[in-house]
Amino acid sequence: MTSNTRSGQTWRATKILATLGSASESEAQITQLVQAGVNIVRMNFSHGTHEEHLKRIEMVRAIEKKLSQPIGILADMQGPKYRIGRVVDGLSLVEGSLIQFDQSDEIGNAERLPLPHPEIFKALYPGARLLMDDGKLALVVKTLADNAFTAEVLTGGPVLSRKGVNVPDIKLDTDVLTSKDLKDLEFALDKGADWIALSFVQSVSDVLAAKAKIAGRAQLMAKIEKPAALAEIQDIINASDAIMIARGDLGVELDAAEVPSVQKRLIYQCRKVGKPVVVATQMLESMIHSPTPTRAEATDVAGAVFDGADAVMLSAETAIGDYAVEAVKTMASILTSAEMHIKEFPFDGPAPLDVEPSIYHAVAKAAVALAQTIEAKAIIAYSASGNTAVRIARERPAIRLFVSTPELAVQRRLSVLFGATTLRQAESDYEAALSITKETLKQEKVVHTNDAIVVVAGFPFGLAGSTNAIRVEHI
Ligand code: PGA
Ligand code: MN
Repeated sequence: MTSNTRSGQTWRATKILATLGSASESEAQITQLVQAGVNIVRMNFSHGTHEEHLKRIEMVRAIEKKLSQPIGILADMQGPKYRIGRVVDGLSLVEGSLIQFDQSDEIGNAERLPLPHPEIFKALYPGARLLMDDGKLALVVKTLADNAFTAEVLTGGPVLSRKGVNVPDIKLDTDVLTSKDLKDLEFALDKGADWIALSFVQSVSDVLAAKAKIAGRAQLMAKIEKPAALAEIQDIINASDAIMIARGDLGVELDAAEVPSVQKRLIYQCRKVGKPVVVATQMLESMIHSPTPTRAEATDVAGAVFDGADAVMLSAETAIGDYAVEAVKTMASILTSAEMHIKEFPFDGPAPLDVEPSIYHAVAKAAVALAQTIEAKAIIAYSASGNTAVRIARERPAIRLFVSTPELAVQRRLSVLFGATTLRQAESDYEAALSITKETLKQEKVVHTNDAIVVVAGFPFGLAGSTNAIRVEHI
């Protein structure tokens, strides 16, 4: 059950993914975030020690038990994130000046900067851009030498040690999982992460390589933050279990002006093939230090709903922000409000999808249409693997969707899926399963006597991959 049904608030379909950090460290803080509406948490392996992550993972599992509400855990790998080395204090790059980059570890200055990443040197060419500090500084490569290159400063400004570097114009010959990531990955899998996020994916082969390492122990979410990934995006979506539109780095590597249309396109492509899609970064950025969002931020969060996202993410807002719980509450209320708008004006929401020529898709689509026509109070999917749930969710039904599965792991995984509230039971008899589900829905006050519900199931009952039936049942 989501916290919303328990507290009797308005139901919310769009899921909230919140990053944990020093502002969400104690069990009390994380509990408050979950009660405010968080469905899945992100452990950001770019920061923190294994010890710190483990403490949070254990807390999340304890809270999950205490609230009897499944909570997904996403372990986000740092990936090949580039940084300059150390530089002198007070360094500022001047527009028009030429800087040499090399791989020595001597402290950098206004003439030369250390960049300890050989693969960048191999792939650069004159004319390629180099961005620093989230794109605040821009340089263009002029000449190449052995293990060094010079670049002209296009946009100058202050530079601190270890600031991030983006190289948007080149496809780098690098493993998507660094040696640090491989250690983090094994740790996260060992501690029971449900989802692994893969940063700076450049190609479908990155996804396949990571999938082979994960070997079915968790689901894979590919973060789209490199222009190179867009060139083979459909294959990347197909190979991944979900996609994150990582607007932070994507907005540095692409022109920020391109991000809104990329967001719309990616959401559509993911929804079409039934892959959950998360919109991330700077959603309520000003709430890091302010108790209220800007109007533009509220509009952006609502925009993700209008585009048809499954989930939206909070980063620094919940990891290090001064108003972590308020940010979640604010996000939840914007999402609910946008969803109510779509109920009233469906054309402002995601467009209907063509039906795919398969029994499973046809059953899912017909079930949603049937439920809407008869004004059923809920759609119930008996879905051992969660696949039927995904196919129903992609229709973005405006009716509550309950997914019943015998597996806690499936419940946790579906924490990112639009509209899905999960229930767990392992009854192998349809009538017995149905009566338990009806009882739960009655207790939760989702349904009352005589209400109609639409059930999607497979016969033989309980066998994964057998979905073939729609039934109208009454309470
Ligand atoms: P990050 O990813 O927060 O790990 O950088 C998200 C993004 O780049 O938007
Ligand atoms: Mn990123």
